[in-house]
This record gives sequence, C-alpha cells and structure tokens, in this order.
Amino acid sequence: MENLSNINVIKELFEKHGFSFSKTLGQNFLINPSVCPKIAEQGNAKKGFGIIEIGTGIGVLTNELAKRADKVVAVEIDERLLPVLEETLCEHKNIKIINADVMKINLHEIIQDEFKGLNVAVCANLPYYITSPIIMMLLEQRLPLTSITVMVQKEAGQRLCAKMGSREMGAVTVAVRYFSEPEILFNVSKGSFMPAPNVDSCVVRFNVKDKTPEGVTDEKFFFKVVRGAFSQRRKTLSNSVASAFGIDKKSVNEAIEKSGLSLNIRPEALRMEEFVAFSENLKATI
Ligand code: SAM
Repeated sequence: MENLSNINVIKELFEKHGFSFSKTLGQNFLINPSVCPKIAEQGNAKKGFGIIEIGTGIGVLTNELAKRADKVVAVEIDERLLPVLEETLCEHKNIKIINADVMKINLHEIIQDEFKGLNVAVCANLPYYITSPIIMMLLEQRLPLTSITVMVQKEAGQRLCAKMGSREMGAVTVAVRYFSEPEILFNVSKGSFMPAPNVDSCVVRFNVKDKTPEGVTDEKFFFKVVRGAFSQRRKTLSNSVASAFGIDKKSVNEAIEKSGLSLNIRPEALRMEEFVAFSENLKATI
C-alpha cells in the first residue's frame, strides 16, 4: 500500500484497527514521504540483498525496502500492529514479519534460514529508548552484515559517529569504530514524524569492517575497559578505570605507563591502538 506517510491514511488505519501510539515503545512514525526512499536507497536495499528491519510501525519503510531488495525480514514487538501490516503490506510476497523483541531473537539463525545466497543489511527507524543497545547488539554479535543504516536522535548520531579523540566521543564511539566505519548520511527534522518527538533526528550508516583492530586477545575484557574508561565523565583514565574495576590506582598506572601514555591522560584522548595496548597491559597487570 502506498501513501503510508499520509496523515489521513494513517488516521483511517488507526481508527479501523483501534490502534493508538505507545510512547514506551518509541512509536514515532515517519510522515515525510521523501525520507523512507532515501533510507532504503542509501541502506543497500537493492537486488542481491536481504534486509532486516527493526520496528515496522505501519510498514512505511518496510514497503520501500520490499520494492527494492530481494527479501525483507521485519521484526516488530507490538502485536497490535500485525493486522495493520497484513493490510498495508499485502501486495509484497517478499516480506516476513516476526512479532518479537529484537533483543531476544537469534539473528544468526534468521539470517541463515531467510537470506541464503544474499548479502544482508539492516535498515530501520529505531525506537529511541533502545538505540545504543540495539546497535551494540548488532555489532557485537558479529552478524554477517554489509551495513547498518538507522535513524537515531541527532545527538545520539553525533556520539555514535564521533571521531576518536573528539569531545563528543564515549564508550559507544569506540565500540562502533572497532567494528565499523560510521557516517552521518542526512538530518531529518522532528516535524517528519507523528507524533513529533522533542528533538531532530539523523540517519547514520555503519559500514561493517571485514577485520577488527589487531592485538585484542580478550574482546569482553577490552569492552569492559572501554566502558570503565568512560564511566566517569571528565575524569582521568586512571581514576575512572580504577574505580570501575574496584582496583588500586597503582596497577592501572602501571598499565598506562607500559602503554607509553601520560598518567593524566583522559579517555577521550586515546586512539584505538592505544585503547588496545592499555587493555592488554591492564589484563597482564591485574
Ligand atoms: N518504521 C516505522 C516508521 O518509520 O514509521 C516505525 C518506527 S518507530 C520509531 C519504532 C518501532 O519499533 C515501533 O513500531 C515500535 O513498536 C518498534 N519497537 C520498539 N521496541 C522494539 C523492540 N525491542 N523490538 C522490535 N521492535 C520494537
């Protein structure tokens, strides 16, 4: 069904199916008709690709994805939307809807079963209450993905795509850069959604790397160090890590020095290879 970004069409569907927005599920649906085609085109929805969508809403993006890609698997947590989707997406035979919480399903299995012989990408207008956990889950699982293209709140997008060494960076920045090359594609104003959120959004794409940085012997420990390093804003690496791990500053300082770093260094000043060296040295020290 076309016109899914038309407010009157949306209102009619809601009335017919007795649907109302759930704020807790981050339901801000796209009503700007130019946005979904752009996400689909820049998100690898094309021949030879299978697309995973997270959060269908009434299917406005799903429709654009299904027109372009070989297959779409769309995960939607809200079962009240299932009858709506049956109506709005009925002309597409290449869509499978999974009614589930995306954080609780086995995406490796889904990719294997549903996308044989296809490249796979994620495209979504993400629910804002769970943006970072979803992105981290997709990256950390090492799913065989080409790219992840998602709409997020503007500030979250800036943090996710921040350069190493910049003021905006946080633990999630390091994690994103460990697994991918991130880029902000375009901004989307709050008026493009119904209901309108309080802030503007942007669409970001993570181009998943074939190889992660060398030298990490224990990925779990590495990310524990990264999270610990940013656990206390504006503190030094030494203080933050010592307090996050509940250990003596002496051993942390030893690892900092062994990595050739200054004892006063702040976590946002470290480059990726310095995080790797520090994490390996800390592991050997404690
Ligand atoms: N794609 C639609 C659009 O652009 O209009 C809807 C986007 S809306 C921002 C987010 C959607 O994600 C909602 O439909 C919501 O019900 C769904 N959602 C929220 N939490 C979810 C979860 N944990 N797993 C799967 N879907 C979820």
